[in-house]
Amino acid sequence: MHCVSNHLTLSARQRIVVYREIARLRASGEEQHRLAQLMDGYAYRGQETCATDGLCARGCPVEINTGELIKTLRHDQATARANHMAGWIGGHMSRVTAGARLSLSLVQGFQRILGNRLMGAMAGALRAVSGGRIPLWNPYMPGGAPRLSAARFNQTSGRKVVYFPSCITRSMGRAAGDGESMAVTEKTASLLLKAGYEIIYPEAMDELCCGMAFASKGFTAEGNRKAMELQQALLKASEHGNLPILCDMSPCLYRMKETLDKKLKLYEPIEFTLSFLAPYLTFKRLAETIAIHPVCSAKKMGLETRMVQLASLCAEKVVVPENNCCGFAGDRGFTHPELNRHGLRRLKEQLPADCSGGYSTSRTCEIGLSLHSGLHYKSILYLVDRCTEPKAD
Ligand code: SF4
Ligand code: SF4
Repeated sequence: MHCVSNHLTLSARQRIVVYREIARLRASGEEQHRLAQLMDGYAYRGQETCATDGLCARGCPVEINTGELIKTLRHDQATARANHMAGWIGGHMSRVTAGARLSLSLVQGFQRILGNRLMGAMAGALRAVSGGRIPLWNPYMPGGAPRLSAARFNQTSGRKVVYFPSCITRSMGRAAGDGESMAVTEKTASLLLKAGYEIIYPEAMDELCCGMAFASKGFTAEGNRKAMELQQALLKASEHGNLPILCDMSPCLYRMKETLDKKLKLYEPIEFTLSFLAPYLTFKRLAETIAIHPVCSAKKMGLETRMVQLASLCAEKVVVPENNCCGFAGDRGFTHPELNRHGLRRLKEQLPADCSGGYSTSRTCEIGLSLHSGLHYKSILYLVDRCTEPKAD
């Protein structure tokens, strides 16, 4: 029940059973033909279609996280060349995110010119010709995010926050036709200012990332190096853990909580809004039905109820469709779209006809949620901004 790839390829338990059989055959030297067959099938069924979200641990009586096993296998199989490439990317994040912004903007430019149907047909054909190597485009793909200026905004309230925009939100902007005028990073900043916060961005922000993109693909060393680099920057920006730190993506924040110095006071959008913004904002509930999707990392941090609580401050009716993991898994929604489709196969039927929009806390998950619901899913901070005013002093 907790595994997104169950009934598509393998469940978490089946992954372990097949892995054990592979290990046994390897050790014994028996049935080498069968071993080759199992290993061949395991590459796709065992490894590529695991979202490494770790929700299997929640359903397991002894909390076995099969996603960790898959990350270890990816690590063991990463070639020296791939590790070198990961190191180069990690060392040039500013150039990489700038390149991503430019590419996404170009693609969205083509979408505007060609329209969704023609663009979809061309992108599908390109993917087919490339043998699945070109990621699958969909109409909810974001354009490039605007480049953030690291200016501090002084306020008279004395309230300060360190805002760390993830490398995903620094790269991915709005989707075409989403009805918004700001990207997540801009929306977050404007909401913080509305609540009277002075924003402090970490130094050399363009180079920073939590390292999850590397670690989840098995590039453990580069993932750890990026985490330590971020830790240094956040310790400095937060005055050694005195100031709260907001990251705009739950998955990144979850990894930061796992890997960074416990002195740091780390928050994702749900908890931060309830604890730090709500006291300074007046909420006016919208007469709308909205849907929310607590992403896996929010679930693992125990934030499902808090998310409902926050959404209920914002809208009269809140629905939480039953989905496990959405299966987008960072970039897997582009490279293995069948996992995302499978994970969200029951989403649309659970959404009421009058549902006006969906909200979440992960920019990448929102792409797949939009695609499989037909509604634009956005950060919950957009919803909070829509229904709040600064509280009069
Ligand atoms: S990490 Fe996710 S996809 Fe992988 S085995 Fe566990 S539940 Fe299944
Ligand atoms: S893609 Fe979204 S829902 Fe799936 S594992 Fe990642 S955070 Fe969770």
